[in-house]
Amino acid sequence: MFRPHPNISDAWILSKSGELEPPVTVVLAALHGNERCGVAAIESVRREPSPFVERQLEGSVVFVHGNPRATEQRRRYTQGGTDINRLFSYGYVESLAREAWTYEHQRALELRPLITGADALLDIHSASQPTPPFVICDGSQQAVRLGGATGFKVTYGWDGPGMLMDQVSIGSLVSQGKPALSVECGQHEAPSTMAYAHTVLDSFLVAIGALAGDLPPTEPEVYRLFARVVKPTHDFVLARDFASFERLDAGQSLGSGPGLNIVIEREAYLLLPTPSAERGEDIVYLAERVS
Ligand SMILES: [Zn+2]
Repeated sequence: MFRPHPNISDAWILSKSGELEPPVTVVLAALHGNERCGVAAIESVRREPSPFVERQLEGSVVFVHGNPRATEQRRRYTQGGTDINRLFSYGYVESLAREAWTYEHQRALELRPLITGADALLDIHSASQPTPPFVICDGSQQAVRLGGATGFKVTYGWDGPGMLMDQVSIGSLVSQGKPALSVECGQHEAPSTMAYAHTVLDSFLVAIGALAGDLPPTEPEVYRLFARVVKPTHDFVLARDFASFERLDAGQSLGSGPGLNIVIEREAYLLLPTPSAERGEDIVYLAERVS
């Protein structure tokens, strides 16, 4: 059966009985409202659920439109709101007065039992700059294998100091040793991004054992982050218009500003270069290839 979730808005349950049968797999889309590829993938399930109902194995899959109001506003988060993908450690429930809560605080709380109680989680994103699709995971054998099964490149090491793993959607499952992946499907509105979101939704559900199906054999490319680069000054600019997974050799310039030139000390693959970053924000991440 496929039906709307009884307690959570903009969420739908796929299960044999229509109830929330364990194990529960959650597919999250558009926690960042303007990242619509995952919503498009969920909409295609909603339009034509029978191929999914027929392939269903055990448990339930809950499909969730993470931040529908921000999607309506075509924004990352709602006007006057905040990044919901920094709220999943739920510290604000104790530390922030209710009057100060935004829509995202309310929505994160509405999703709390579902997300913290899930047995597996896929969180679908897209990026502002062009990028090949890739998986973000915790680097456990289980997660790397699952990430590789999607056919995407696999990255880990995002849980270092300042990397916010405890605050993002997958953090709760990662801390419980449960399988959880976040995926970047490409640049926001690119047709290939939409296609990759469909693909990864299906391949993840097959790989986790929620749906019957075959996965093509893959030799995943795996990368480990070893540094995050914070934009040091207002005038700092990247050396050129980098794409994700572009490789720099030791000695090449990453970027420069007045009186400042950042040179790469060792071979590095660039992840999520963000030319629009403000001073103090992450402008790029550096990774090494491990397999
Ligand atoms: Zn995002």
